[in-house]
Amino acid sequence: MSNKIVLALAGNQNSGKTTLFNRLTGSNRHVGNFPGVTVERWEGHVSGHEFASVVDLPGIYSLSPYSAEEMITRSFLTEGGVDAIIDVVDATNMERNLYLSLQLIELGLPMVIALNMMDEMRANGNTVDVAAMSDALGVPIVPISAGKNEGIHELVDAAIDVAVAKQRPQHHLDFCSGPAHRCIHSIAHMIEDHAERLGISERFAATKLIEGDAPLTESLGLNENELESVEHLVKEMENELGTDREAALADTRYNFIEGLVARTVVKRPRSRERERSAGADVILTHKFFAIPIFFGIMGLIFWLTFGVVGQPLSDALGTLIDSLSGWVGDGLDAVGINPFMRRFIVDGVLTGVGTVVSFVPVIAVMFFLLSLLEDSGYMARIAFVMDRPLRCVGLSGRSVVPMLLGFGCSVPAVMSTRTLPSERDRKLSILLIPFMSCSAKLPVYALFTAVFFPKHGAAVMSLLYILGVLGGFAAALVLRNIPYFRGSPVPFVLEMPNYRLPNLRSVLILLWEKCRDFLSRAFTVIFVATVAIWLLSNLNVRLYAAASYEDSMLADVSRLVAPLFAPLGFGFWQAAIAVIVGLMAKEATISTLAVVTNAGVGSANIAALFTPAGAFAFLVFTLLYTPCIAAMATIRRELRSGDGAALAVAAGQFAIAWCAAFAAYHLWI
Ligand code: GDP
Ligand code: MG
Repeated sequence: MSNKIVLALAGNQNSGKTTLFNRLTGSNRHVGNFPGVTVERWEGHVSGHEFASVVDLPGIYSLSPYSAEEMITRSFLTEGGVDAIIDVVDATNMERNLYLSLQLIELGLPMVIALNMMDEMRANGNTVDVAAMSDALGVPIVPISAGKNEGIHELVDAAIDVAVAKQRPQHHLDFCSGPAHRCIHSIAHMIEDHAERLGISERFAATKLIEGDAPLTESLGLNENELESVEHLVKEMENELGTDREAALADTRYNFIEGLVARTVVKRPRSRERERSAGADVILTHKFFAIPIFFGIMGLIFWLTFGVVGQPLSDALGTLIDSLSGWVGDGLDAVGINPFMRRFIVDGVLTGVGTVVSFVPVIAVMFFLLSLLEDSGYMARIAFVMDRPLRCVGLSGRSVVPMLLGFGCSVPAVMSTRTLPSERDRKLSILLIPFMSCSAKLPVYALFTAVFFPKHGAAVMSLLYILGVLGGFAAALVLRNIPYFRGSPVPFVLEMPNYRLPNLRSVLILLWEKCRDFLSRAFTVIFVATVAIWLLSNLNVRLYAAASYEDSMLADVSRLVAPLFAPLGFGFWQAAIAVIVGLMAKEATISTLAVVTNAGVGSANIAALFTPAGAFAFLVFTLLYTPCIAAMATIRRELRSGDGAALAVAAGQFAIAWCAAFAAYHLWI
């Protein structure tokens, strides 16, 4: 068997695809989704079957063309590279999940259904007649528990069997009857040739035509006459059924599923899981308590991240790196190395890298806690609870996840907007993320509040975070009036999963991925930036070692731009350098201030430079100004509108920051 077999995992969000993917591949190498959401597809080898690979696709509820995930999944499945689909179905949520299964079956590709979460179904005391269900659907069904590692081998064997035998679903039973049935069949018959040319099943093409699926209709390339006949048949069906085209098919599918589930699933009156979840929801999604509880939980997370765990760990790492620099310095002195190179290595390279590395624990703790929230099912409640307030500014509850991630790092936050169902909601959310103070700015706040506002540190920091969020909402209100963003967010239909104990394994995998991402970024972009900046600040325009920083090239540049910041109370070159370097990476702001003021890791002689009012204005400016290069690159890619849009974001944030800092400075003095 030399030909490679490609298996594709498709299914609803939270049906357990990624858990299954990790079981199948026996590794975590190719899993890179951040808390909860797989937005891209990931490929890995099926362990024990080197000729087979498996692809983890984004979670979807339907094969309609409304969201980025649906489009990714659909085009991947219809491009012809997939040998078999493994449809992951959450057995505790059968009705909802089978809705997608019916559409996958219509694709006509070899397919097996992995009936996942059987452990939970058993615990609830429910049973399912797998053979009868498999018979009715015409595809093999394997009951598994990805979480408990049950049934995985059987599933792999079944999937490889159908792939090798090219065994397509057997349509001996039709899902529909009556007018919808007639309509599908007439259209399927008529467009047979077109579907064949595209390499998709005529039945899938027919249902999509009936649903009014624009991209597919276009690629089918029907002529005037055919289009007219389709419309005519659809009208006829609509009239007979008294519903519109999309509802007609949705009703047919749900009717079929209802009948199927009634025949094959034996349910206990109400599952224990649901009961418990419903009990918890009485409080956690309560009309009045929900939002205070949410803020309480977020407060707790921030306190744990930055106060209890993160900061001491960062400090300890910082100390370690300080002593490391000391040893390296001594070592270099001992071999009598050129003093300029010694300074380059110790003050440039090690200081820069040290600052970045000492920051990893904070990121790790933050992501650990956020993935716990996601995995336990609480994140879905947050989205539900926040839906109403967010709707006031033209967003939906789904934007809450990207915004929360934005407090960690804008890069994953911007990427997570891919799960939003409409382009409008997506782009609006992307534009708000720079207002959520990312954790790389935290060291700046920490240092400045420690020096200038030691008694009110927590208050000043909270104020900054709140200012960012309010600024974001204000921006959303303004953007709403721009023609592109007019209209309202897509209705909210997020599924409420049962509360679950988070799976430590998947949480730890996510955590490792995040830290690795951050470190690889730190050692590329940030490292290069730090070293370049150090060189710029230690060489003068004729490339000689500068006698002091004041002489350096960077100081020359900074002196040119510094007057721009004079109205904000920090019009001196040291602050200008820090701002410029912050464009590379916000983490580097403090290390730069440390370098240009001749101080060690994590501190800087800023007391003599800034006035308290100037320091506060500097913090406000840092909060809001242009995101770092990595974030800008992600924003540019995800806005999909080219350089113009990205430049507008960069310049816009700069202008907003300047105005806000100006106001802050003048309100203060
Ligand atoms: P995806 O969104 O489809 O990729 O789903 P995930 O793999 O992220 O899983 C969603 C949640 O379901 C996680 O909390 C998993 O730990 C949990 N889960 C996955 N498979 C099982 C299972 O077989 N049994 C139980 N009880 N939980 C599972
Ligand atoms: Mg996933």
